[in-house]
Amino acid sequence: MKCEELLAMLNEYVDGAVDPAICVEFEKHMAGCNPCQVVVDNIRQTITLYRDGTPYELPSAFRLRLHAALRQRWKETHATGGKTAAP
Ligand SMILES: [Zn+2]
Repeated sequence: MKCEELLAMLNEYVDGAVDPAICVEFEKHMAGCNPCQVVVDNIRQTITLYRDGTPYELPSAFRLRLHAALRQRWKETHATGGKTAAP
């Protein structure tokens, strides 16, 4: 799986529509790709925080914002060009 493929899947991941086989691919890719790890960690935290307060159903506005934030985050983490990503 390439970074772009993971990014494409990430929207479905956020929506909770990713099957377990894909999750395995996620883990595999992230094990060797720090920027992706950072982004996915970030998204997971966001989802967890949201789930804490309400039943798990993301409003579409929230989802769109999350997708946008995720792309932004993606640019930031992948723009460093091989440098170690600072927290
Ligand atoms: Zn990656």
